[in-house]
Amino acid sequence: MNIEGLEISVVRKKIKNMYLRVQPPDGSVKVSAPRNMSEKVIRQFVQQKLPWIRKKQQQIRSRKRHEPYQMVTGEIHYLWGQAYRLVIVDKGSRYQIDLRADEIIYQVREGSTFEQRKAHYLAWCREQLELKASEIASGWMQRMQVEVREIRTRNMKTKWGTCNCRERRIWLNLQLVKWPLSCLEYIIVHEFTHLLERGHNKRFYALLDGYLPDWRKQRKILKSAVCFE
Ligand SMILES: [Zn+2]
Repeated sequence: MNIEGLEISVVRKKIKNMYLRVQPPDGSVKVSAPRNMSEKVIRQFVQQKLPWIRKKQQQIRSRKRHEPYQMVTGEIHYLWGQAYRLVIVDKGSRYQIDLRADEIIYQVREGSTFEQRKAHYLAWCREQLELKASEIASGWMQRMQVEVREIRTRNMKTKWGTCNCRERRIWLNLQLVKWPLSCLEYIIVHEFTHLLERGHNKRFYALLDGYLPDWRKQRKILKSAVCFE
């Protein structure tokens, strides 16, 4: 569907109300509509929201983004909000990563490919994230009196964390490893709060305010940029 030069993808679903999303990273617009809703009604709905859509698209497109890593010496990598210069040492027989003051010394196998370097590096990032996340989580489990069965990590396109309340499982975006630890803590506490209150309602935010009074600061940091690769 095209409205005033704007390409809109419409998905029909078994739902009662219409939903509209402007999606990162390109600002594409997606409408979910009930199966039997006429095209005319959908058009009217989108038309009403055009100013909001354009504003949202501008916001999304102006976000700063990290360039995808090339895994070469001199490249700047981020860990817990701090910038490190990557130094590749390719004379080794195995993979090893050491942190210096402002450098990541990455020993790789001689003749290794970009994919191999990247895979080992991501595995290391995942280890760092899981280590910190479990430290932070254990304190908050006690304080909030919630029981979490599992915390897992993966790359996600549009979310920093998700909570499967029934399974008591939290998923964290692997990209959190690039941001300050306070951001990781905020996402963990946010997801834990869902174990006490599922929806983003008044009660949810009252609980969150009680646990982390300055959570909006961390949210602002995470909203200011995208670094999804
Ligand atoms: Zn939430």
